[in-house]
Amino acid sequence: MAKSSVQIIRSKKELRAQVTEWHMKGLKVGMVPTMGALHHGHLSLIKEIQKHVDKVVVSIFVNPKQFGPNEDFDKYPRSETTDIKKLNKVKTDLLYAPEVGEIYPDGFLTVVAVAKLTEGLCAAKRPGHFDGVTTVVTKLLLQCLPDVALFGEKDFQQYTVLKQMAKDLDMPTEVMCGKLIRDEDGLATSSRNVYLSPEERKIALEIPKTLKQIISEIEEDNLPVEEALEKGSKHLLDSGFKEVQYLEIRQSEDLEPLTRTFAETSPILARILVAAVVGKTRLIDNMPIKIFF
Ligand code: AMP
Repeated sequence: MAKSSVQIIRSKKELRAQVTEWHMKGLKVGMVPTMGALHHGHLSLIKEIQKHVDKVVVSIFVNPKQFGPNEDFDKYPRSETTDIKKLNKVKTDLLYAPEVGEIYPDGFLTVVAVAKLTEGLCAAKRPGHFDGVTTVVTKLLLQCLPDVALFGEKDFQQYTVLKQMAKDLDMPTEVMCGKLIRDEDGLATSSRNVYLSPEERKIALEIPKTLKQIISEIEEDNLPVEEALEKGSKHLLDSGFKEVQYLEIRQSEDLEPLTRTFAETSPILARILVAAVVGKTRLIDNMPIKIFF
């Protein structure tokens, strides 16, 4: 039997035509937007969305608008041939891999921006990053019109922003979150992990270890939040990180700082989120945490 291979489409017109055909047959369509250099985190999202839909579209587009002028757009890993092999293994129906001009044709002037949720955490050191993300995801979702789109918990702030955007703009797509996948040693899987030297990777492992340590100090030893975070931040710097851009605990629902309202039932479901730089590589991670008041 011939091996089924993913259908590759590079134009929005063909993408729309294929998705419309599926919809006319009553099939449910899911989309997993990515920037390629596919790894287990991406593949887990594809396997997850398959449970909810009949046809899966994966997009690969390294979006210039979400990289700052001094960031890694030019050297971001690109590996379409290997990516296609991986997509075939997990039975993706369609790969949408547009050129830049298909997303941002000459004369493109629009910015889609979500307020408030894009003010702290990753946004502080990456001005304009989330506007780039919300603009490209709006384009991808409108070009495809999927019933469901799945984003990873690894980029928790991004998922929260995109869920809000889809709701605010009455997009006909349900935005869902897929669980964070880690490498065997505990490091959150990321396309940027290839930048790490063996020495840097050892240092990087202190991120998940430190998050776990802080969670246990707060949940089990009742250490005050501020004290545990300060200790954790110092530990990361002592371990060899060049910079801890943030190490914070926010409410899971709205990413607001923790607020103590006496009417509220304890515990509050929160997230501990971190961004830190080792060598030239910026890494992010997050975990759920319960806060008892
Ligand atoms: P990227 O290619 O890095 O833009 O990521 C594409 C999608 O995959 C986003 O929704 C990410 O949150 C998600 N993703 C990236 N890494 C992971 C991971 N380790 N676990 C789960 N999802 C991930």
